[in-house]
Amino acid sequence: MIIVLKSGVDEAKVDVLKNWLTEKGLVISPIYGAEKTVLGLVGDTSHLSVDEVSMHEAVEKVLKVQEPFKKANRKFHPDNSVIKVGNVLVGGKDLIVIAGPCSVESEEQIIQIAHQVKNYGASILRGGAFKPRTSPYSFQGLRVEGLMLLKKAGEAAGLPIVSEITNPAYLEIFEEYVDFIQVGARNMQNFELLKELGRIKKPILLKRGFANTLEELLMACEYIMNEGNQNVILCERGIRTHETYTRNTLDLSAVPALKRMSHLPVLVDPSHGSGLSWMVEPLSKAAIAAGADGVIIEVHNNPGKALSDGPQSITPSEFSYLMPKLREYARLEGKHISIPHTVAYAGTPGSFANEAAEKLYHTHVLTGFERFEDVFDAVLSNKVEVGVVPVENSLAGKVTEVVDLLDDDRLEITDRIRLPVRQMLVAPPGTELSSIRKIYSHEKAFEQCRKFLSTMPDCQLIKYSTTSAAASAVAALNDKYSAAIASETAARLNRLEILKDSIQDDENNYTEFVVFRKRK
Ligand code: PEP
Ligand code: MN
Repeated sequence: MIIVLKSGVDEAKVDVLKNWLTEKGLVISPIYGAEKTVLGLVGDTSHLSVDEVSMHEAVEKVLKVQEPFKKANRKFHPDNSVIKVGNVLVGGKDLIVIAGPCSVESEEQIIQIAHQVKNYGASILRGGAFKPRTSPYSFQGLRVEGLMLLKKAGEAAGLPIVSEITNPAYLEIFEEYVDFIQVGARNMQNFELLKELGRIKKPILLKRGFANTLEELLMACEYIMNEGNQNVILCERGIRTHETYTRNTLDLSAVPALKRMSHLPVLVDPSHGSGLSWMVEPLSKAAIAAGADGVIIEVHNNPGKALSDGPQSITPSEFSYLMPKLREYARLEGKHISIPHTVAYAGTPGSFANEAAEKLYHTHVLTGFERFEDVFDAVLSNKVEVGVVPVENSLAGKVTEVVDLLDDDRLEITDRIRLPVRQMLVAPPGTELSSIRKIYSHEKAFEQCRKFLSTMPDCQLIKYSTTSAAASAVAALNDKYSAAIASETAARLNRLEILKDSIQDDENNYTEFVVFRKRK
């Protein structure tokens, strides 16, 4: 039963009502809304008639709640509940993207994925440590060590973490290590576990069991809330149907249904929902369109070798392309996904464009692309916000390929920067100048070093996409015949030695770089 109080009613009149209800053995759960105060009554109210409650002066309206779930019921709490996970608010204006591997497999794996998903806009890191596997012979998870590694990775990347609990015996450890505790599909009706989770304050991610109705999901939720913990977030993750094409049948109608039935945030798991990595994108978009507060996505650095759920895991690179698309879908629903500013530059680390990008955007996430057209593709597909490419060199003239690519109505130039360029002849340590027969570099670098190259007539010049890629290739070849023309930074990053410094024809060699973006 729900009692809506009159606005601005006298406290004394409310107390009379509350005392009367308490004497009848009822538990009152008050909810203070922006406009109205509501008293929710839980427990058996069958002996109470609407008329006798309505007679009290403080009462505006009395509603009988037909549904068996009370605390999760939207009638009890008409506004959406916003639940805090670490410093992330779930259920509000932000569309939450939880990402990470099915299982934590090693320190290196989880730290690498944590940084990557954070850079691409994830707000919470996932990773299973206690895995409820169908077969006892499958990988069971790294258990407590897995939780410790997940915590380390979350701290390194600045992300709260979520992991699944399977047994109340581990509650203390979860309370210590994890920000957000997941109850998986297989444990949705483990009522003893749910009651224990109700006695703590940490937010709980309650996944729908694969054979459970929405009402059963909300009743499971009631077990947690009734013990005191109101911080529950629901998750649709697919149910069993006769269909076998997908691992489960993702029931997207659960989203609007749960939002209508309950005030709690609702997430969708398209990875377990389909079991197929290529379905993660369309199902995530559909989940957002259906009104979900967020999605939980399995991301693995090498899905082919994943110890669990590889076929449904997407790569960090696929995740990076997915995020800007989801941001657009979220925008249509009035929700926001914040993706850190990202910059694409031409070349690999150590390229001159990398140096220009770093000067302009030292706090941003920088990604190198070996080919100029890949930098343009990244900007046009919204993978990054801006691109940094060289357009002209004082000795070698215009970079015609870039000038042509910039001639595109969809793009606009927003900034320019001129950098002095010193070219170096670099080679593996110990290489003699006289033994070199092959020089690798970008053709513009060859044009800037004509005078020097005329002193090396026996050398074959091999064109490379960028000077930094040429330096990496020479480092990989590691023979006494090959050298590259590249920057000092490229030499350092590739552990190459500088055989000759400043080999460009003119001391005053400059390259102009432009910053461009997609027109708004
Ligand atoms: C998981 O999140 O890795 C998992 C096991 O999920 P579910 O309980 O939905 O199968
Ligand atoms: Mn999984």
